[in-house]
Amino acid sequence: MAAGAEITNFTIDSVRRAIAERQTTASALAQDFYTRIRQEDPEIGAFLTLSEERAFAQAARIDQMAAAGAPLPPLAGVPVAIKDVMVTRGVRTTAGSKILENFVPPYDCTAVVRLEAAGAVVLGKLNCDEFAMGSSTENSAYHPVHNPRDKSRVPGGSSGGSAAAVAAGMAVATLGSDTGGSIRQPASFCGVVGLKPTYGRVSRYGLIAFASSLDHIGPFAKTVKEAALVLRTIAGRDPMDSTSADVPVPDYVAELEKPVQGLKVGVAREYFGDGLDPEVRAAVEAAIQKLAELGCEVVPVSLPHTEYAIPAYYIVATAEASSNLARYDGVRYGFRAPKSRTLSEMYRRTRDGGFGIEVKRRIMLGTYALSAGYYDAYYLKAQKVRTLLTRDFDEAFKKVDVIAAPTCPTPAFRLGEKVNDPLAMYLADIYTVTANLAGVPGISLPCGENHEKLPIGLQLFGRHFDEATLLRVAHSYERTA
Ligand code: GLN
Repeated sequence: MAAGAEITNFTIDSVRRAIAERQTTASALAQDFYTRIRQEDPEIGAFLTLSEERAFAQAARIDQMAAAGAPLPPLAGVPVAIKDVMVTRGVRTTAGSKILENFVPPYDCTAVVRLEAAGAVVLGKLNCDEFAMGSSTENSAYHPVHNPRDKSRVPGGSSGGSAAAVAAGMAVATLGSDTGGSIRQPASFCGVVGLKPTYGRVSRYGLIAFASSLDHIGPFAKTVKEAALVLRTIAGRDPMDSTSADVPVPDYVAELEKPVQGLKVGVAREYFGDGLDPEVRAAVEAAIQKLAELGCEVVPVSLPHTEYAIPAYYIVATAEASSNLARYDGVRYGFRAPKSRTLSEMYRRTRDGGFGIEVKRRIMLGTYALSAGYYDAYYLKAQKVRTLLTRDFDEAFKKVDVIAAPTCPTPAFRLGEKVNDPLAMYLADIYTVTANLAGVPGISLPCGENHEKLPIGLQLFGRHFDEATLLRVAHSYERTA
């Protein structure tokens, strides 16, 4: 099968069917995707490492099953790729950082194990902001990622490589991580679907920690159904992560077809305030109107503490990051600055040379917020705000089944536009950080384009562990689009 136009049309189902019906093999398909990556990626920059050996070994296993006429697992032969914050045994894992430049993990992330157990073929590791800190992928220590829809623009971040790889047809589905929006925002910027599940729904075992109480793993795909399929595969209790929840995982794909008539869709005015681009507002309002036409009831709700979400997020996230990143000391992992004379000089020079500017900024902010004398004023207060935000969602979800909002205040911005203004970069996370603080699931799906043909994302929030309703509403909206 030739690489090129048709490769971008593959879905999880069509790959599986093509292999089951022996129209292609998993190995040939992997080869086609690598060809496409070699053609396209020099201009996009989505991949940091290709894992060809591992991919072809897995593809050969699938091909043997197909040849033997054995029943194929749900993701049989599906070419996927993984954000480089999830560890992969024997395959370099950098977290987008120089400090892990040569780090080859001795074990696998649970989500990756589950994808492979379902038959997926892992093509490689995807570029991201260093330690997932950022909103544009410009904080990668390696190279930026260009948005496939307009290469002068960012793909969003921090999972920019994960969104761009799907948008450019270099993988059928990918995994990303979302601590404050890093799945939903790049999905919105690149015109694909991105899902942040409920906190605890997907094991974080093998996810390189940024802020452990906010970190989530989730899928990117071109359609809601494929995101549902990937979620079904990776979700569920894992004894290796004590925060993974022992809550039954529904068959999200089967649930998609249930009717949405009568479901209540909340709209919070706090998500439509100052700073929202008029074209984004119009597209999201039109999407909500579509949901009404599908038989959903649109209900106003209030999430009154939303305006405090950004400061609370940037305190909790940096506090946890400052603690999590203490482990990179030049002794246990990755980079060690050469020629140090004392231990403390070695620590200092390793961390100075190994971390980029944004990571250092966050370690300093977080250390400050946790220090004696400031702890109550910053960290404790942020935790209280977090509780208020969670209660806002709890109250709203007494009245409605999902909440609809924009994913981001604007479409994709230009590369370089915000790099020297970290505060502007932080403020643009306003609509996504709330779901991380509250732990509720959120999805972003395309809902149109602006006058420059840049994609716009519709965001839906759901109740804790109710990804099924979220996906169902998203799926029925997608079918009308
Ligand atoms: N943009 C946010 C930040 O920089 C979110 C990042 C993320 O979700 N990993 O922290």
